[in-house]
Amino acid sequence: MSTLEIRDLQVSVKLPEGELKPILAGVDLTVKAGETHAIMGPNGSGKSTLAYSIAGHPKYEITGGTVTLDGADVLAMSVDERARAGLFLAMQYPVEVPGVSVANFLRTAKTAIDGEAPKLRTWGGELRSAMERLQMDPSFAQRNVNEGFSGGEKKRHEIVQLELLKPKVAILDETDSGLDIDALRIVSEGVNRVKDTGETGVLLITHYTRILRYVKPDFVHVFVAGKIVQEGGPELAEQLEAEGYERYLTRA
Ligand code: ADP
Ligand code: MG
Ligand code: MG
Repeated sequence: MSTLEIRDLQVSVKLPEGELKPILAGVDLTVKAGETHAIMGPNGSGKSTLAYSIAGHPKYEITGGTVTLDGADVLAMSVDERARAGLFLAMQYPVEVPGVSVANFLRTAKTAIDGEAPKLRTWGGELRSAMERLQMDPSFAQRNVNEGFSGGEKKRHEIVQLELLKPKVAILDETDSGLDIDALRIVSEGVNRVKDTGETGVLLITHYTRILRYVKPDFVHVFVAGKIVQEGGPELAEQLEAEGYERYLTRA
């Protein structure tokens, strides 16, 4: 059973003048395979900083704490090593990959993560059916990654990656932002399929509660000013929907 353990994580963003601006003020979180956790919090609270830090983005400096995956030190790994270790990060602002088709990108990623190329005989079919489940046109496989993709297409492509790569832990940052109601449902169904395998831990980062109507988290963590300020079950998401973040903000 895979476990991502975040202990007292403290992170600063590197400002252009070389100064450090502290963002994460000691985050503790444990995500196990088969569990779905929602991190919810107001804009600017540091949710994306948490995702980027686990991903190994160079703009963020870890100033304290630890992150381990099945006991291995994630913070000591390169970005590629993190992916090979079984971490999957879907970013709030996905980058374009010029000149690389979706089909090639996915095959390369799968090869890198598994340590061997996927079987030619079965891979094409796997890719096609993953795209079908996300209701993406087959021609999409020949487009360059994220080039001219709509918001909804980017998110569907992320979920195709997620289903094909079968990570130990998936971190989805604002996967629901900018989706219309149909795309939200299709993307949510994809997350639920991954969740229902019981083999992937899902960390769903969101500002809104709406995705949580489709993807039921086992645990909800309220994130304010760089740390978790309250934890509970799915009922906490409903309470947030009704009351908003105000009471946490006035207390902070
Ligand atoms: P969230 O995802 O919860 O909206 P972020 O992690 O994106 O929050 O941002 C947390 C805080 O860090 C914000 O106050 C934001 O302005 C600040 N921040 C993030 N990146 C930078 C940067 N490159 N320069 C200055 N401040 C930054
Ligand atoms: Mg934000
Ligand atoms: Mg964010």
